[in-house]
Amino acid sequence: MTYVIALPCVDVMDRACVEECPVDCIYEGGRSLYIHPDECVDCGACEPVCPVEAIFYEDDVPDEWEPYINDNAEFFTETLPGRDAPLGSPGGAAKLGPTESDAPLVTSLEPQAQP
Ligand code: SF4
Ligand code: SF4
Repeated sequence: MTYVIALPCVDVMDRACVEECPVDCIYEGGRSLYIHPDECVDCGACEPVCPVEAIFYEDDVPDEWEPYINDNAEFFTETLPGRDAPLGSPGGAAKLGPTESDAPLVTSLEPQAQP
């Protein structure tokens, strides 16, 4: 299981969650952040600090945002535009740094209004 970042993060990306993660598994795309499903240790530290309540335990993702479970995973498993290969498991977001790529569902979204 893993934690998942859903729609409310898109075009917000304030990175409050990144500071809390003990295993540095929250990666930055162009319009959203993404939790690595295999690197996440399910500690839950990120969930309460998100100002827009974008983070959910996988089992608790609201029905309307369930596609974000797969979209978070595809950020790592797919060869996204702007990349030569899938990211795989980089083992740390800080050393990778921000990326410009987004998973397919996030890429398909219209610009989101700021909260
Ligand atoms: S649940 Fe814990 S390990 Fe997983 S992304 Fe959040 S802070 Fe990181
Ligand atoms: S704290 Fe919430 S809005 Fe901010 S980057 Fe993390 S998931 Fe996105």
